[in-house]
Amino acid sequence: MTSLLVTNIGELVTWDDERPVLRDAALVIEHGKVTWIGDRTAAPDADAVRDVSGAAVLPGFVDSHTHLVFAGDRSADFEARMAGRPYEAGGIRTTVAATRGATDEQLSANVARHVAQMRAQGTTTIEIKSGYGLTIRDEARSLAIARQATEETTFLGAHVVPEGTDVAAYVDLVTGAMLEACAPFARWIDVFCEEGAFGADEARAVLEAGTAAGLEPRIHANQLGPGPGVQVAAEVGAASADHCTFLDDADVATLADSGVVAGLLPGVEFSTRSPYPDARRLIDAGITVALATDCNPGSSFTSSMPFCIALAVREMGMTPLEALWSATRGGAFSLRRDDVGHLAVGAKADLVVLDAPSHVHLSYRPGVPLAVPFRS
Ligand SMILES: [Zn+2]
Repeated sequence: MTSLLVTNIGELVTWDDERPVLRDAALVIEHGKVTWIGDRTAAPDADAVRDVSGAAVLPGFVDSHTHLVFAGDRSADFEARMAGRPYEAGGIRTTVAATRGATDEQLSANVARHVAQMRAQGTTTIEIKSGYGLTIRDEARSLAIARQATEETTFLGAHVVPEGTDVAAYVDLVTGAMLEACAPFARWIDVFCEEGAFGADEARAVLEAGTAAGLEPRIHANQLGPGPGVQVAAEVGAASADHCTFLDDADVATLADSGVVAGLLPGVEFSTRSPYPDARRLIDAGITVALATDCNPGSSFTSSMPFCIALAVREMGMTPLEALWSATRGGAFSLRRDDVGHLAVGAKADLVVLDAPSHVHLSYRPGVPLAVPFRS
């Protein structure tokens, strides 16, 4: 079979400039790419036909921020937090100990299980960070394991300063021997710029060293309080500044001027019972917003993009269409990808068929498994 016509699409979201959403549409797939899009009645012949009975068809979700390489369980932290204890960055160290103690096979199996759960919910592109190893050996093997699942791998040796280590000495390691060992398995470099983790000078040093080693920068910024993360992101030309929960007016202006994508991760605020970032303020300022899960065992153990879309609509002032854009096209911008996150002719045929007539159902029916991955 060389061409497949997908037809009787009730609502087709393409993100094409002229016609971002089509009704009663069809598309043709050849060799894994979209080769034709248009009205159902104008569709060309194809070798095979799939009738989706009026369902909505969307671009697959692009989850631009996850931490899937880990071992251990942090459900007790969540339980305690729900009983009133605040989230603290140091909780990461618990997962570090479990991750170091796990075999490669155990870590690979965990990644594969989470990736399968994500794909079953409509996610087709996944970024995965290291950051629970914090030694040369454990960061490098974390990235080698992540690489088995995706090309979008991120070296996050600067996630937290390991127990009993001096910050300056650790930054030297992350920007020196650890970077050298990790760079072959990573596309991106990231740093957790936050009180209790890494400050502005340290974050800048990490991202500049990564850039010099051929990696592209992204950053964890302004999650737990106001801070310099967004400013550092703009200075180093980061693709995205993720979290953006605590922004002042200068931060918003910096994001708007620099074109740095603001990655919003509402699973974190849900799971830590914290105030949500103000997506409306960012969108109104003309900033590109991406939505991602931040899937990790400590602060956001969801791998569901539909759940994050529902949160963004209910809690962050986004319309259902804006939230879908941010979960697809916005995620692609965050990863500097033009082949995913939309369904233009020439893009990858990563699509999701909804068990529903429109994208609105993703937030209208939260928690219902509507997003069905498409297999051609
Ligand atoms: Zn994160």
